[in-house]
Amino acid sequence: MAAPAVPLPEPIRNPEIKYTQLFINNEYVDCVSGKTFPTINPSTGEKIIDIQEGDKADIDKAVEAAKEAFKDSSPWRQMNASTRGVLLNKLADLLERDRLYISSLEVMDNGKPFRDMYLNDYSMILNTIRYYAGWTDKICGKTIPVDGPFFCYTKHEPVGICGQIIPWNFPLAMLSWKIAPALACGNCVVLKPAEQTPLTALYIGTLIKEAGFPPGVVNIVPGYGPTAGAAISSHPDINKVAFTGSTEARQLIMEAAAKSNLKRVTLELGGKSPNVVFADADLDFAAEMSHQALFYNMGQCCTAGSRTYVQEEIYEEFTKKLINRAKNRVVGDPLDTKNESGPQIDEEQYKKILSLIESGVKEGAKLECGGKAVEGKGYFIEPTVFTGVTEDMTIGKQEIFGPVQQILKFKTMEEVIEKANNTSYGLAAAIFTKDLGKAVTFTNKVKAGTVWVNIYNWITAQSPFGGFKMSGVGRELGEYGLAQYTEVKNVIINPMAK
Ligand code: ADP
Repeated sequence: MAAPAVPLPEPIRNPEIKYTQLFINNEYVDCVSGKTFPTINPSTGEKIIDIQEGDKADIDKAVEAAKEAFKDSSPWRQMNASTRGVLLNKLADLLERDRLYISSLEVMDNGKPFRDMYLNDYSMILNTIRYYAGWTDKICGKTIPVDGPFFCYTKHEPVGICGQIIPWNFPLAMLSWKIAPALACGNCVVLKPAEQTPLTALYIGTLIKEAGFPPGVVNIVPGYGPTAGAAISSHPDINKVAFTGSTEARQLIMEAAAKSNLKRVTLELGGKSPNVVFADADLDFAAEMSHQALFYNMGQCCTAGSRTYVQEEIYEEFTKKLINRAKNRVVGDPLDTKNESGPQIDEEQYKKILSLIESGVKEGAKLECGGKAVEGKGYFIEPTVFTGVTEDMTIGKQEIFGPVQQILKFKTMEEVIEKANNTSYGLAAAIFTKDLGKAVTFTNKVKAGTVWVNIYNWITAQSPFGGFKMSGVGRELGEYGLAQYTEVKNVIINPMAK
């Protein structure tokens, strides 16, 4: 992701937590059941604080607030489109004002390195909101020369009430990807942050209010997936659901969306993305990119380059570079800016990753480095590299979502394309080569929503992001992302009628 040249300040240790309640109708309120759930600091495994636990009754309240805000006569619906842009820009300004506090809060809740949050996630968040602020008064229909004497035009209208279900790996960045296009198009939002990382989303509530969004336009309900999340996907008055998360939850969400009211669905899911390194590549650059492709954010990226294909001629030399780099990756307290990696998100993921590492060893891959938990508190795992991986091994096909790199060997373009595509996923792919012909062949033939050539994980607000096959439905970001938040209305006028 693009990092701007901003100086890196010292993070705030133990930032004060101001909000633990649901944000509905621009007010912080307790949940209906009175239940709470703990949010845990993954760097220590200790509870940070208890959060009000939203469930169906709270989603119902949030939907009622959103429906009121979406009424034809409401301030939000009466507002000039350009004013929506002013409000989004104001929100970005407030986020910029509170950058240090919010980044520190996110690191405490999520465990990602402070420098990654403050520089990378945060620039993505600000860019996304400002990018969509610019779109508010540029969402145009067409005039169409239809058969007959009629005047025909299309209008792009907001879909209505949008349920948005957010993951924990980039909590605030994913929130920005969801709310910015939804609000730009004039929708109202009921958003559920991931249960592991509710803190920054809850804080954003106060900024939404301060920016001047009318009550009910954005509602934030923390809670668990099978309860609050399921209440969103099955709600009869929610018109669209947008979800980023695991492949396991996606079918449940699509099914609930279909059974309730055929609400529109966009899904951004996992991957097992091929990262292909040809012998003619700039090997030092390709090695650093391939390392970051997997280990960035502790391997918790849906785009993680988790199948590193290395051409036979350079296999020994290149894998050595990758192993050395992984051995030198600095893991530790995410608030210490020299550290490149923090902990995994929670105990469940940590255990799952360790058991996948075990399966790699059992199934015959060669463990070159790492492979264990880091001793001490928190959910830290050593950067791990496997060579000799094949596609039939569990670690060769299953998404690990952890700091575990799989290196596979290939000979020819034809072979690597076939292997790259031999997966139910299709989120991202990359090729490292100096040969333009190879690059074009690969980009044409690989089945993935994003293909990088001599770069990895370059994701920006302006261009679309999403998956082929089981990696997703629809696209986020860029102009393409707007299509998911509008309905197209076709108007035909008979100018002859008396
Ligand atoms: P992970 O398994 O990596 O934690 P999930 O897909 O479970 O990822 O979580 C992503 C988001 O989806 C979270 O906000 C979570 O609460 C939500 N979620 C999980 N299961 C469901 C479900 N059945 N219905 C709706 N939302 C869900």
